Amino acid sequence: MRELRHRAVTCPQSPSCQVAEPELEPMTSDSQARALSAEPRCFSNASSAYVSARIKMGSQLSVDNSVQVVIVGGGFGGIAAASQLKSWGIPFTLVDMRDAFHHNVAALRASVEKGFAKKTFISYTVTFKDNFRQGLVVGIDLQKQRVLLQDGEALSFSHLILATGSDGPFPGKFNQLSNMETAIQSYEVMVKQVQKSQHIVVVGGGSAGVEMAAEIKTDYPEKEVILIHSQVALADVELLPCVRQEVKEILLRKGVKLVLSERVSNLDQLPLNESQEHILVKTDKGTEVDTNLVILCTGIKINSSAYSSAFADKLATNGALRVNEHLQVEGFDQIYAIGDCADVKEPKMAYHAGLHANVVVANIVNSMKQKPLQSYRPGALTFLLSMGRNDGVGQISGFYVGRLMVRLAKSRDLFISTSWKTMGQTPP
Ligand SMILES: Cc1cc2nc3c(=O)[nH]c(=O)nc-3n(C[C@H](O)[C@H](O)[C@H](O)COP(=O)(O)OP(=O)(O)OC[C@H]3O[C@@H](n4cnc5c(N)ncnc54)[C@H](O)[C@@H]3O)c2cc1C
Repeated sequence: MRELRHRAVTCPQSPSCQVAEPELEPMTSDSQARALSAEPRCFSNASSAYVSARIKMGSQLSVDNSVQVVIVGGGFGGIAAASQLKSWGIPFTLVDMRDAFHHNVAALRASVEKGFAKKTFISYTVTFKDNFRQGLVVGIDLQKQRVLLQDGEALSFSHLILATGSDGPFPGKFNQLSNMETAIQSYEVMVKQVQKSQHIVVVGGGSAGVEMAAEIKTDYPEKEVILIHSQVALADVELLPCVRQEVKEILLRKGVKLVLSERVSNLDQLPLNESQEHILVKTDKGTEVDTNLVILCTGIKINSSAYSSAFADKLATNGALRVNEHLQVEGFDQIYAIGDCADVKEPKMAYHAGLHANVVVANIVNSMKQKPLQSYRPGALTFLLSMGRNDGVGQISGFYVGRLMVRLAKSRDLFISTSWKTMGQTPP
């Protein structure tokens, strides 16, 4: 395999966009993985913060009995923090309501490709053994420094990392409280619904919606896929205009039909993720679409129920926790928030959650060594959109990157190997 490095040239579509043109160089097996989360290096959008926060892994720290880190939430941020604490030999407990990490970055392909879903769930117990506790966190007792579980148990902490992330509609997120086998099965059921349906509507043209439409059209070019989006431009608002334009062109090339600047008006009455003979989707502009399957790709919501009453006065309007530059919850030295549930002015991304984890573990270590704390500063955006396994577009550190680089860096594997590596397990 070869690694792609980039140099800046002018974007062919818009002079205001910078383009990273790939140059081929020998690649280590790690390089594509670093583009996502735990070990980002050349592709970092917060590279200065990351580099300064990098900690030497593998060396063990001697800590006294009073140290016990509790991590609430085993998403991308939580598993990155837990695996680093494990390497340092710092006592910790990772709590999650589920029994397996969900690599939801690949959830959309798992909804289309048979047998893929098992690669997207990774058991916590196999990796973290007794350091993992399955349970729903219902509150935090700040006075007694305890995390409260629904089953009545309380976990004492000296340091707390809140990493409860966000929820959204299935299949992009899997929100139910079930075990790994049932979760995998839900995706296999979804694969069958897609197989059965000749006409499919995807609602929402943000990054998840465009990736969903592209995944279906890649495996089923003969199916009709209609993407309905309430705005004109597709994908995330933070992306370069030329990236958003290319997203549109890729979809059109694949044969996805676009209904833009229209909002679905009868969403409440529509059966979701269930193949049926005639489903009538209506929009606010009077468009009506007769379809077989409706997939919703909108509405990510911060998971704040674990901490919202303890930190009622520290919440941003979306429920995320207000943090300082060290990612400490405002007013608390030993309590940190990372990932989607931290109120940092940048897009909510797995990649960022991994960067946050690096800074927070460095800060826990530094606070024990009485060293200055590290800061997290969002940088120029890195954001790759996989448009099926052979296509994609995106930007790295603010530079446009085209299909070749995105395909190598993301589309083929969707960073699945990175998560299995972080968890120290081998994918099936
Ligand atoms: C379809 C889709 C594709 C995406 N693609 C990309 C991509 O390509 N690149 C990228 O960087 N980002 C991508 N993202 C965004 C990314 O998924 C999120 O930013 C990321 O999951 C955030 O990680 P996190 O650790 O903050 O939280 P999450 O991954 O949301 O994990 C939170 C965890 O906390 C647990 N939890 C929550 N509340 C409680 C509680 N009360 N008690 C116990 N446990 C609790 C949950 O069970 C969950 O395991 C994508 C998102 C979607 C929906």
